[in-house]
Amino acid sequence: MESHRLPQHVVPTRYDLRLEPDLDRFTFTGTETIAVTVREATAEVVLNAAELEVTEASIEDGTGVRLPGMVEMDESTARCRFRFPHHLTPGAWRLHLSFKGNLNDKLRGFYRSHYKDQAGTTQVLAATQFEATDARRAFPCWDEPAFKAVFATTLVIDPALTAVSNTAVRSELVEGGKKVVRFKDTIKMSTYLAAFIVGRLEATEPVMVGSTPLRVWAVPGKQHLAGYGQEIGAYSLRFFEDYYGLPYPGDKLDLIAIPDFASGAMENLGAITFRETALLLDERTATHGERERVADVVAHENAHMWFGDLVTMTWWNGLWLNEAFATFMEMLAVDAWKPEWRRWEAFGAGRAAAMSVDGLHATRPIEYPVHAPKDADAMFDVLTYEKGASILRMLEQYLGPDRFREGVRGYLRAHAYANADTGDLWVALERAAERPVPALMDDWIFRPGYPLISVKVDQQGDLVLSQQRFTYLPAAAGELSAEEQEQEKAQRWQVPIQLQVTARGQATTQRLLLTEAETRLALPQGFESVLVNEGGHGFYRVRYQPGLLERILNAPERLTGIERFNLVSDAWAAVVAGLIPLAGYLDLTARFRGGRDRNLWGVIIDSFQVLNRLIAPADRPGLEALVRDRVGPAVAELGWTPSAGEMEIMRQLRGDLLRALGTIGNDRTVQAKAAELYGEHGRATPARELDPNVLAAAVSILAFSGDGGRYEEFLRTFRAAANPQEERRYLFSLPLFQQQALHEQTLARTLNGEIRTQDGPALISAMLMSVYARERTWAFVKANWDKMDQVFPKNGVRRMCGGVLGLATPEWERDVRRFFADRKIDFGGKVLPQYFEQLRIAVTLREREGKALTQYLKRSL
Ligand SMILES: [Zn+2]
Repeated sequence: MESHRLPQHVVPTRYDLRLEPDLDRFTFTGTETIAVTVREATAEVVLNAAELEVTEASIEDGTGVRLPGMVEMDESTARCRFRFPHHLTPGAWRLHLSFKGNLNDKLRGFYRSHYKDQAGTTQVLAATQFEATDARRAFPCWDEPAFKAVFATTLVIDPALTAVSNTAVRSELVEGGKKVVRFKDTIKMSTYLAAFIVGRLEATEPVMVGSTPLRVWAVPGKQHLAGYGQEIGAYSLRFFEDYYGLPYPGDKLDLIAIPDFASGAMENLGAITFRETALLLDERTATHGERERVADVVAHENAHMWFGDLVTMTWWNGLWLNEAFATFMEMLAVDAWKPEWRRWEAFGAGRAAAMSVDGLHATRPIEYPVHAPKDADAMFDVLTYEKGASILRMLEQYLGPDRFREGVRGYLRAHAYANADTGDLWVALERAAERPVPALMDDWIFRPGYPLISVKVDQQGDLVLSQQRFTYLPAAAGELSAEEQEQEKAQRWQVPIQLQVTARGQATTQRLLLTEAETRLALPQGFESVLVNEGGHGFYRVRYQPGLLERILNAPERLTGIERFNLVSDAWAAVVAGLIPLAGYLDLTARFRGGRDRNLWGVIIDSFQVLNRLIAPADRPGLEALVRDRVGPAVAELGWTPSAGEMEIMRQLRGDLLRALGTIGNDRTVQAKAAELYGEHGRATPARELDPNVLAAAVSILAFSGDGGRYEEFLRTFRAAANPQEERRYLFSLPLFQQQALHEQTLARTLNGEIRTQDGPALISAMLMSVYARERTWAFVKANWDKMDQVFPKNGVRRMCGGVLGLATPEWERDVRRFFADRKIDFGGKVLPQYFEQLRIAVTLREREGKALTQYLKRSL
């Protein structure tokens, strides 16, 4: 299917681009001169353009002779074809184009974003979002990552406005009542990294990182929220220059908060754009989770300045080279910045999220062929980001961090200002590590799934480790051909395994590479226990013979946080896969009562949320009692107020546990206390300051237990929010209310302009997952599909549909499948088959464990 790729007989080297946006009419006009190299004589030039009108085209040779071009637009392929009266001879030419388009409201291409200024007046700004394939909506271009070129941008704007682009301003002058801002040349880069932002924007003073000025931009009135993002921005930029051993490739770095933004952030070289919650933050009132989010996203985007911007994947199949690396590097940088956050431990949740998708028959390899643009869009998922980053972490630990870094440096140096493939990375890593990297890595990158490592001691007293692919459903349930089922069964990986063997009270670490289906190890005299996946970096699940698991659980203090997390996460996955009974898992959770491990609690609470969606209403009081039994003791110890000098992650844990107890645990005492403290907090001079993590939990609890009056109050607070985190907190409290009339209101607000289209899909997804709102919400989605498809950003609609997992009954499952089939909806890649299989797994779990669960919950009462 080469038809999606542009021909290569004419290639660009430089764009001189001049754009004039009109923020009153939501239109723009542009002219560009593209320096091209004609490689083979031709009478036509083909490039990408979409939703643009090209008003003039001509091409000029080195002597100044111009040929007029006939323009042919094809919206179905997003291409623009120019035909010239005779052949262009090989060599250098200049293509001149004039064009115009609309500043759309779809949060892609060149688009408009609205916000209310401090006087309450609606203001407009224009911004861009080009990845993966939307630069073609702003200017005609060779819109594929391998066509790197230099960009020299000029923005012609209203003199009251400010313009930001990838590079520093070269000159700014007023011509004919307009401000003409000319930017310096960029490095050679891909089109998807170009950026233009125009509006009433304010910047912080720059912080210098070496010779790079780093600033944070926002709409007026938000400058006081910029300090934190600037701090991690400067820290991580310095960290990466050091790690990569290469200077930052741009001439300045601007971090820009945009009020309407489809994803989290975008790594445009030198002009990184963010949604406001991912950059701006009030340090006095933010929760730990909100702080971690900003630190993560800023570090991630900065990491891209090298991985992605300086060295770019040749085509979208190599997206993981960008995103997995940026995610991996984000962890390294944030971990170095705040070691007390134990960022790698918290990453266990990301790894587990990737495993839950990668345990499907409908999973895909990290790298797979991409043809149509929508398949590129479908690559932005947990497999590319979290699985990719997990595999890199596993490899880094296996090769050793220093050798791994050497390999990364070699790769970046070899491919700077150019493009690279996965094979190029292997070459660089292999050279540095002096070990065969492709043999080890190809199965992890180019084949789907991951292994389940089974651990037992055989009759001879040897330790036996074996591998098979982990899946939740039998292969026959996966709509696979017989051949594919066989392939799944026969699948093996080269698995780097780190073991901790304890004998006579002494723990020793052993490393091995499991390459066969099975391997045996002699156990030492006085053997006590064995822990597989010591350190927790392996991308596999572990299943112990019952006696072996018991030995580990008898000495839980020997385990690190990530090892405990993996143990429980593996156990829960085994329940969902039908490998162990649910009752055994629920007993296991009782062992961790009173624990202080926030990630471990995360798995346990999530598993209770899943069960909550599967049970009948009559069983709910039993589940509530179970939650109170498990969570209550830790809350009783932690109380509502942090002790002096308490770690930030402990404060987050307190918030998480209170929220669980007050919502899914339906604890009346906690609800009453939350109301009391929240009321006190709202007074002009509160008797005591409420910890932000507790305040955020209280908002959830009060929404869950609240009435129409509380709903109105939270809606008002959302509208008048003092910062992006507060706005988000109150907005996402709305799905938690239990009353149907309030659900109606919230749903209506997602489509009437009251709630930003960047947030509507996530809100609807949350309501599909709510046992009180899901039925009505699903009906609403079906009835309003066309409108949603029209107004919400594309990636939002795709993610919103993940909420169908909340509809875990056989009847709903059938209805969901029918709806998507009737509408012929396709999100590209394997997105929909994955949602369907996840729904099937949930329904299967309900059918398999429903009765046992009812019995178990009765005993909890
Ligand atoms: Zn990224």
